[in-house]
Amino acid sequence: MTLHPQQAAIPVDTCAITLSAADELQLAQRLIGFDSSHPEGIRACTDFALGWLEGHEIRARTFDLEGLPVLDATVGEGPVTVVLHAHLDVVPGKKEQYIPHVDDEFLWGRGSYDMKGATAAMFAVMADLALAHAAAPLGIRVRLLCVPDEEDDKPKDIRGTEAAVQRGLIGDFVVCGEPTDLHVGIQAKGVLDVRIDVEGRGAHGATPWLGVNAIERAMDIFDALKRLPFAQASSRFYERPSINLGRISGGDRINQVPDKCTMDVDIRFLPEQPVEQVREELMSLALPGCRVTEMFRRPPAKVSVSDPFLQLLRTSAQLHAQPGTEVELVGRDGTNDGTYFLQRGIPSVEFGPTGSGHHGPKEKVTIASLRQYRLALLSFLDAVRADPEPLAGRVQHRPQDEHRDGPRSLV
Ligand SMILES: [Zn+2]
Repeated sequence: MTLHPQQAAIPVDTCAITLSAADELQLAQRLIGFDSSHPEGIRACTDFALGWLEGHEIRARTFDLEGLPVLDATVGEGPVTVVLHAHLDVVPGKKEQYIPHVDDEFLWGRGSYDMKGATAAMFAVMADLALAHAAAPLGIRVRLLCVPDEEDDKPKDIRGTEAAVQRGLIGDFVVCGEPTDLHVGIQAKGVLDVRIDVEGRGAHGATPWLGVNAIERAMDIFDALKRLPFAQASSRFYERPSINLGRISGGDRINQVPDKCTMDVDIRFLPEQPVEQVREELMSLALPGCRVTEMFRRPPAKVSVSDPFLQLLRTSAQLHAQPGTEVELVGRDGTNDGTYFLQRGIPSVEFGPTGSGHHGPKEKVTIASLRQYRLALLSFLDAVRADPEPLAGRVQHRPQDEHRDGPRSLV
């Protein structure tokens, strides 16, 4: 096996589990070659992934979710299950982004950073574990879960991760391989998307003082929204909540005073903020002739800094970090699929390799970080299996929350 110089430069002797011949860089390139921004590409990519796992003596199967495959693979048995969570879908990219290429430092291509690079490293980890398990029982179970719809922004009845959780494909701790530059994301903001319908009074454009301009009124309401108390909050991990006026429509003609305006606002609140408080404050905007409707809600993610799995993961990540780099616990502005596990009381963090440009035209991941990531996961899993008993049975499984995806009025 010929390694890229950046892979070869990372010392492997600090990792107790021997690396198999699986090459995370080569595999990442294969995965990037599938345009998995659409169902056909996702199915082809998952077929390939399934074959790869079976070829490495790893138990793997898929189940169908509205025509898309959800992949579940496991290695080992024991009192503790760690879930490695990945998604095989990507956001659409340019044609050339599906032709991966490497230079001295980076692997380029759609999904290299979000998150086929991490996925390939997780697959390699599974191969490493399978090899170790063939020699002596692993003592824990490691589950690799690959979903087909993490990037899909269309409303769906049920998503891959949610379906997997409902089927009991869970564990005691979850690592989502979303890009974090080898830091560990322990919080994610909650989502509360609202639609604000504003009424005005139509009039001739030449005499606007005879009407009420719904667009101007909407602007005032949006300004008031940004001044609400919840919008001023900050916390250890966040300077502020996120408020984005993503869509606005209103007005027919330039010479008419618009009598209607609709704004769609994407609100990401802090994990410490009770959603009911945010909702209540938003309700104060519902003045006469103004309606606020909840479009979508997702709870925030929050894992305790003292969680024992988290501490092992951080220590393991530090063990393989670049010299002089401190692995930090960070808060993430975006949401992630880990919330489906957190809703069940299962701690879930984000941890992925180093790169930049995800969802953009110049997406890339550093080749060295893929190897560091693989080693960090292996060291973490080795630490878990060294003493699994205190880690077992910590999860107090909670029933899942009801669906919150449908629009409903806040007033
Ligand atoms: Zn992602």
